[in-house]
Amino acid sequence: MYNSARYKKILQDVWGYPDFRGIQEDIIRHIAEGNDTLGLMPTGGGKSITFQVPALAAEGTCLVVTPLIALMKDQVANLKSRGVAAVAISSEMSRDEITRHLDNAHFGAYKLLYISPERLGSPNFICRLRGIHISFIVIDEAHCISQWGYDFRPSYLQIATVRDVLPGVPVLALTATATKEVVEDICQKLRFNATGKVFRMSFERPNLRYVVRATETPIEEMVHILQSVPGCAIVYASSREKTEDLAKALTEQGIPALHYHAGLSALTRQTVQRAWQEDRARVMVATNAFGMGIDKPDVRLVLHFDVPDSIEAYFQEAGRAGRDGKLAYAVLIHNSFVERTLLRRVEDSFPPTDYLRRVYAEICYFLQIAEGEAEGRTFEFNIAKFCRVFQHFPIRLQSALNILSRAGYLEYHEKEDATSRLMVMMQRNELYSVNYLPERTELVLDAVLRRIPGIFAEYRTVEEDMLAEHCDMTQQEVYQHLCSLSRWGIVNYVPKKKIPKITFLTRRLDPKNVTFPPEIYSIRKAHMQKQIEAMANYVLQDELCRSRVLLHHFSDDAPDCGGCDVCLKNKK
Ligand code: ADP
Ligand code: MG
Repeated sequence: MYNSARYKKILQDVWGYPDFRGIQEDIIRHIAEGNDTLGLMPTGGGKSITFQVPALAAEGTCLVVTPLIALMKDQVANLKSRGVAAVAISSEMSRDEITRHLDNAHFGAYKLLYISPERLGSPNFICRLRGIHISFIVIDEAHCISQWGYDFRPSYLQIATVRDVLPGVPVLALTATATKEVVEDICQKLRFNATGKVFRMSFERPNLRYVVRATETPIEEMVHILQSVPGCAIVYASSREKTEDLAKALTEQGIPALHYHAGLSALTRQTVQRAWQEDRARVMVATNAFGMGIDKPDVRLVLHFDVPDSIEAYFQEAGRAGRDGKLAYAVLIHNSFVERTLLRRVEDSFPPTDYLRRVYAEICYFLQIAEGEAEGRTFEFNIAKFCRVFQHFPIRLQSALNILSRAGYLEYHEKEDATSRLMVMMQRNELYSVNYLPERTELVLDAVLRRIPGIFAEYRTVEEDMLAEHCDMTQQEVYQHLCSLSRWGIVNYVPKKKIPKITFLTRRLDPKNVTFPPEIYSIRKAHMQKQIEAMANYVLQDELCRSRVLLHHFSDDAPDCGGCDVCLKNKK
């Protein structure tokens, strides 16, 4: 049975923390006794400890499913630095490497095995999993499994199948999203059994000051706020272009800022994230692609330049401020059109079904697909040209593609090219006179020349991971050195990039047979409408304490915070 002292000792010996916090121990006890468990704790609440400690106490290996590679790597590095045997299986690894780690796991070499949900779709992995003694399964960021969560990821649905592969192994799900519908959805999708239980920690963040501010000059306001709140900050904006523009505007005002969005290459994302994490740039301007699992304790300000689509998204993003418990600000700015802008988002996300059918027909025409054909085929899709030819607004078109995908007609994806390419732009003898390169950059150049034959004559495939191993550097270091070699004009480096593609999942249909079931269209539209209205209410109301409005959304409550703009106004 559960032995409290034993678990506390692990916490003290491995982490050096004197005691568990809040509901941590309740969660640990429940999972340690072999029951399905859902832990709801706000960002920064300390969810990781609730599986890492019992993983160490249990026999066998704890299988951890997390959505982001970066997040896995951070946690594994952190565990290793504490002497814990942990590994993350990621798509960046070679087949051999994966096989080796799974062999080790088979012999019980790891206490924690981290994987992405996609991995569960690999028959090979599932087969190997049966041979590993799994103590319990962790689903981190479990709201991703719920279609009502603001960050639904279809690959998360595969997680449920792992229960068939590992019958009788208990599941611990963790999330910071705690609305009633998401909680119910998680328990149902993960097939919690009768002893399954939900543990909920208060979502109150006493050190966070929530502020909502109306302004017609948002850029000036943003600069002003960043000048008044010193320290590390995140600015959230709604579009990729905007993140670039705002970062530029800030840098011009003397506030060092980087930008981050899902359109950047994986290496660039890693590089800028690291620069921000290590305080080499004060501000990160980002889309909502930035943040999940980011464990930077001293973020003093999260500023929303645009209003998010839901309270859950807002709370999660704002919650990245002040994880160290010290005073921090969550500021949201908006203009006088905010209500109209928000409601238009529902229309933009769910365009009329006639429009969806029109897009379907035009795609078929554009890709020259004959009726009855194309099932299972993949086409490159020049989305910019398509928008031009058929005069579509990109946002609505994107929504149409999403809905057509969800309804199972086609799949729209931006997959990264398999490889980067590179060519040396100088003659070999010219290279001898290059004497201005930093030593590490030269090392990379040297490796390129040695390892890639024929690179003077034409573009060749370059594998950053191979160079990294050769030079004993990380992949992003190699990437940076290749970029500087490119800037010096010594090589031309074309990093991996994304090309949009469409795969037809059915043969070409007559548009009138392209229909949308309510679960795909009307129910979701109504749901979004409700989310947006809740968000609009948060922004526009100025009578109730901001913190309490947020907490009510999660069926939670607390006294007035005393520090938000509404509380301050009411005090006066
Ligand atoms: P979450 O996943 O809930 O956002 P984390 O697991 O990343 O939060 O933990 C947030 C921070 O709290 C981490 O720096 C962690 O080391 C710290 N922490 C967690 N539990 C404790 C504890 N019992 N005592 C002290 N610090 C803790
Ligand atoms: Mg976490």
